[in-house]
Amino acid sequence: MQLERREFLSSLALAGAATLFSGNPLLASTAAAKDKLGIALVGLGYYSTDLLAPALQQTEKCYLAGIVTGTPAKAEAWKAKYQIPDKNIYNYQNFDQIANNPDIDVVYVVLPPSMHREFVVRAAKAGKHVFCEKPMAPSVADCQAMIDACKKNKVKLAIGYRCQHDPNIQAVMKVAKAQKFGKVKMINSAAGYFDARTNHWKQNKALGGGVMGDMGVYALQGARLATGEEPVRVMAQASTTRPDIYKEVEETMMFMLEFPSGARAACQTSFGINMNYLQVNYEKGWLKLEPQSAYNGNKGSMSDGTVINFPIKSQQAKQMDEDCAALMNNTELIAPGEEGLRDIRVVEAIYKSVASGKTVTI
Ligand code: NAD
Repeated sequence: MQLERREFLSSLALAGAATLFSGNPLLASTAAAKDKLGIALVGLGYYSTDLLAPALQQTEKCYLAGIVTGTPAKAEAWKAKYQIPDKNIYNYQNFDQIANNPDIDVVYVVLPPSMHREFVVRAAKAGKHVFCEKPMAPSVADCQAMIDACKKNKVKLAIGYRCQHDPNIQAVMKVAKAQKFGKVKMINSAAGYFDARTNHWKQNKALGGGVMGDMGVYALQGARLATGEEPVRVMAQASTTRPDIYKEVEETMMFMLEFPSGARAACQTSFGINMNYLQVNYEKGWLKLEPQSAYNGNKGSMSDGTVINFPIKSQQAKQMDEDCAALMNNTELIAPGEEGLRDIRVVEAIYKSVASGKTVTI
């Protein structure tokens, strides 16, 4: 009798919880009692190893719960280093079984760009929320398919634009929004580094390489965030100083953007040149940020003497915590899939301009 009463009461509590969380599939399925979401990293290359896994040791709203890798030796090393249970370790073939794993709330895709679509769609079909590294994918069609898959499966999609979580970049966005110095007239935006590798996906077209498949989106984001507008016309030129390495993709891209307000941007991005800055000239002042898209230490100043220098412990930890808080509270993500797609729309226009030698209207 006692037992029956307890079972009855607990089933009532469950029913109540189900009603309470019915608007949010995440909370309904797993997280009613969770104060931290479990993240599974897909692809254990440089960014996962050196930045995301260490950041996940600092996060408050999420933790490293699982891994997906094609290399058994990496699985062993990560398992030992981060105490990941066997049941949370997948390879690319059995990945879809993650659907049955309540420890994993979010799948974070950290693979070469051409693989993002496949793994985002598979994660969505498995009913998991998805974080996906930038650039979102090589084409607008891929991005749209990823957005559609997440909508269809009622999961959310965030793009790993860590800079949009950085208060130093947010300061630039605020100036644009408030029109602190009037309209934006001219932007110079640069993002590049010298990449000494000779046989990497960044040099491979089929894997989504080329500088626009990597650093290029930082130069582009600098211009888009500084205006708060979408460019309407693009003129671009691709070049390389190492044709033996950059055989099928560009090492350097220079592109000019025109915005609806009349603002113009000159953007440069390269795998052969170290550069990282944003300069915005407004009707009545200026803003400079150097670096503009580093992992830490982004800083700058404005013509009225305002200093931009907000140190943060870890951009990646802040990004994942803020995105997980948005999932838990069912609020807007800072950089959802639609934001990733906006960049790729411009990237496609950049390549069209390079191919035609003409200005392209978006
Ligand atoms: P990486 O080459 O170091 O790692 C790629 C991973 O994908 C490796 O573990 C590799 O084994 C795996 N992989 C699976 N199939 C592959 C294939 N066919 N070819 C190549 N690799 C394959 O690359 P990375 O620098 O870690 O970049 C991964 C993603 O993260 C990219 O989208 C990149 O733009 C992004 N990234 C973002 C930042 C940032 O600051 N947000 C920084 C670096 C990289």
